[in-house]
Amino acid sequence: MDEVNEAATRLATVREAIARAAKLAGREANEVELIAVSKTVPPAAILPLIEAGQASFGENRVQEAAGKWPALRRAGTRLHLVGQLQSNKAREAVELFDAIHSLDRPSLVAALARAQAATGLRRELFVQVNIGDEDQKGGCAIAELPALLKQAGDAGLAIDGLMCVPPAEIEAAPFFALLAKLARDHGLAKLSMGMSGDYETAVMLGATHVRVGTALFGAREKA
Ligand SMILES: *Cc1c(COP(=O)(O)O)cnc(C)c1O
Repeated sequence: MDEVNEAATRLATVREAIARAAKLAGREANEVELIAVSKTVPPAAILPLIEAGQASFGENRVQEAAGKWPALRRAGTRLHLVGQLQSNKAREAVELFDAIHSLDRPSLVAALARAQAATGLRRELFVQVNIGDEDQKGGCAIAELPALLKQAGDAGLAIDGLMCVPPAEIEAAPFFALLAKLARDHGLAKLSMGMSGDYETAVMLGATHVRVGTALFGAREKA
């Protein structure tokens, strides 16, 4: 039970920080979905958080999630894919995840449109934007966002929002503000932004989904 108490304490700390940040920005805390990013975390360490009441979890690999979650999943569990997705895994991802945060290219728009049509499932979808224009980062280039959104519309794929991972080591706020502006410009309501180091800033700037790993599970082992 100690583990459950510890998980509940971490969870309460993060939830309180989200509530404070939301209040400062004149928002309601329940406008923000806290996603506990459990990539690399073994089931035994995820379970206490589930028992403490956490419902939304994030994984970055389809294979890892497919191995871990069928046994962990409860009624009300929401699974989010926050890592890159190969087109040939689109169908498996649509079947396994409630939300996909990493739509970033035309081939994946086509694959997800086919997967949703074939399964009859409609998932929450975010286009990931390479907001800091970094060579090594996933996400579609800002300049390519309008064309990708148009392609999704033409394919009958409803996009719910935008996601970003800003450059490391520098202030994230300007990148969050830019993502929020892009979403407004395109009439998209949802913003997936903010991780352990900057989720409060993200909430103040309009995040509807924050993706928090380390602050809930402790440091991950380096890959
Ligand atoms: C790992 C990961 C997170 C969580 O990062 P923390 O710094 O541990 O909170 C959030 N988003 C994405 C896309 C990730 O890969």
